[in-house]
Amino acid sequence: MGCDGYNLPMSDLPACFALFGQPVAHSLSPRIHATFAEQLGVALEYTAVEVAPEEFAAEVGRFVRWGGRGLNITVPHKAAAAAVAAEASAAVQRSGVANTLSVRDNGSLRADNTDGVGLVRDLLARQKIVLRNSKLLLLGAGGAARGVAPALLDAGIGKLLVANRTLTRAEALVAALDDPRASATEWSGLHQTAPFDLILHATAAGVQGKALALPSGVFRDAPLCYDLSYGAGARAFLEAARAAGVERTCDGLGMLIEQAAESFAIWHGVRPQTEPVYAMLRAAA
Ligand code: NAP
Repeated sequence: MGCDGYNLPMSDLPACFALFGQPVAHSLSPRIHATFAEQLGVALEYTAVEVAPEEFAAEVGRFVRWGGRGLNITVPHKAAAAAVAAEASAAVQRSGVANTLSVRDNGSLRADNTDGVGLVRDLLARQKIVLRNSKLLLLGAGGAARGVAPALLDAGIGKLLVANRTLTRAEALVAALDDPRASATEWSGLHQTAPFDLILHATAAGVQGKALALPSGVFRDAPLCYDLSYGAGARAFLEAARAAGVERTCDGLGMLIEQAAESFAIWHGVRPQTEPVYAMLRAAA
C-alpha cells in the first residue's frame, strides 16, 4: 500500500512525502528518496503528484490535513511554495523561492531551498571546480536561477552576470540579491561580456524541447558549462557548448541528488550518502 493520491487512511502507512510540480512524470526524485530511505533504514513513501498552478495552495492544504510530512516543489510552484509557508529559511527569504516544505506538528509549514546548496556541493565536491573569485554567467531568472544565485555568491565567486530572455526578470533577481558582484546583462550582448570561467544554464528551454538562441561567442574560452537540467533536457545546451569548443560539460544530475539529500536531511535528521546513488543513476543514464 502506498500514499499515491494520498486518499487512503493514514494508519498503517509509513510517513508520506511527495513532489508537487507540473510536469513531474519524468522526475527521478521518487527513486532517489526511495534509495536514500533504503540506505538508512527509514520507512517512507514518496510519490510525484501533478499539480496545476491554480490548485497548488489547496492541494498543499489537502496533503497536510491528510497527514503528509513533507513536500519537494518543482516547476512552476517554487514561488508559491515560499508564499504558502508560515516560516522560511534564510535561503528562502533571500531568493523568494522554495523547493522543500516541512509539515510541523501543529500543521504549519516551514519552507527551505536546497537547490543552491545542492548545486554548490556538486560543483565543489564532485566536479572539483574552483568557485572562489570566478566569473560566472547564469542563464535564466526563473525559480532555479533565483534559488541557486545566493549560494553561488556565498561560495565566494567574484562576479555573477545574470542573463534572461526577459531582461526585467534578470534585473529583478539582481536587485533582490543586493550584492555588488551581481549584475544583469542583455541576452543579445552576451558575447561582449565573455569569457566566463563557468556558464550555468538554468532556463527551461531544454526541458521544453525549445532551441536556446544564444549569440555566437558566448562560449569563447569557457573551460566549463553546466546545465541544471539533466538527461534529454540538458542535451542541446551541452552539445552547443562542446561544438563551440568547450572542453568540459556537465548536466545537473549531481545537483538533483545533492539537493534531494539536503531535503532528506531536513526531514529525517540524517544526510544520506550521495555517491552510490549518483553512480547508480549515471550508469542507468
Ligand atoms: P521556471 O521558473 O519556469 O523559469 C524558466 C526560465 O527559463 C525563465 O528564466 C525563462 O525565461 C527561461 N526560458 C524558458 N523558455 C525559454 C526559451 N525558449 N529561451 C530562453 N529562455 C527560456 O523554471 P525553473 O524552476 O527556473 O527551472 C529551470 C530548469 O532548471 C528546469 O528545466 C529544471 O530542469 C532545472 N532544474 C534542475 C534542478 C536540479 O536539481 N538539477 C533543480 C531546479 C531546476 P523568461 O523569464 O523570459 O520566461
